[in-house]
Amino acid sequence: MPDNVKLVLLSCCAPCSAGAIKQLADGGISGVDDFVVLFYNPNIFPNEEYTKRMNEQIKYCEELGVKYAVGDWDHDKWKNAVRGLENEPERGKRCDVCFAYRFAYARNFAIKNGYNAIASVLGVSKHKDQSQVDAAAKRELVDIGYIPIRWDENLRQAINRVSNFYRQNYCGCEFSFRKKPQPAILGINGCETGNGTL
Ligand code: SF4
Repeated sequence: MPDNVKLVLLSCCAPCSAGAIKQLADGGISGVDDFVVLFYNPNIFPNEEYTKRMNEQIKYCEELGVKYAVGDWDHDKWKNAVRGLENEPERGKRCDVCFAYRFAYARNFAIKNGYNAIASVLGVSKHKDQSQVDAAAKRELVDIGYIPIRWDENLRQAINRVSNFYRQNYCGCEFSFRKKPQPAILGINGCETGNGTL
C-alpha cells in the first residue's frame, strides 16, 4: 500500500460497503490519509430502487461521520453503454462494461477533487467475481492508483447482523432481475446484489 493515499471508495450499497467504510473510518487501512465514499450507480433501475439504495448509503455514512458524494443517475446513458449485451449473464461481458463505466466516473471524480487512488466494494457480493472487478479497474484506471483492497468480511457481516439495512434481491440493472425473491436475501449473506454485496 502506498503512503499518503487520498482514496475514493466506489460503493454500490450500504450492505456491501459497511465493513469497508468502518475499516477506513477507524484508520484500519494503513497509508490512507483521507477518503470519501462515492455512490455512483446509474446502472440501478428503476429510480425508486436507486433512491432506496442511495438513502441507505447516505444514512450509514452520516452515522459514521464520513464524507460521501453521490454521482449522477443517468440510466439511459448507461443503457447505451451496455447495448447489445442485455442477454449476458451476471458476471458476463455486460458487467465488464458496467464496472468500467463506473470506474471511469470515479477516476474523473478523483482527479477533479484532489484524490489520488480508487478502491471499491463492487466485488464484495457472493454473486460477484472479484478478479473481474479488479481487471476492469486496472484497464480503466491507467493514470490513477487502483488499490485492490480485500476488505474484512467478518466485520462486514457483523455490522450487517446488527443493522437494519435495506437489502436488494438483484444486482441493479433491469437485466439482472431475478425471477423470484430468494430467501437468502433476508439473511446476512444476502444482499443478492451485483454491484457488490453481502
Ligand atoms: S448485473 Fe450488476 S454489474 Fe452486471 S451490468 Fe447489471 S448492474 Fe452492472
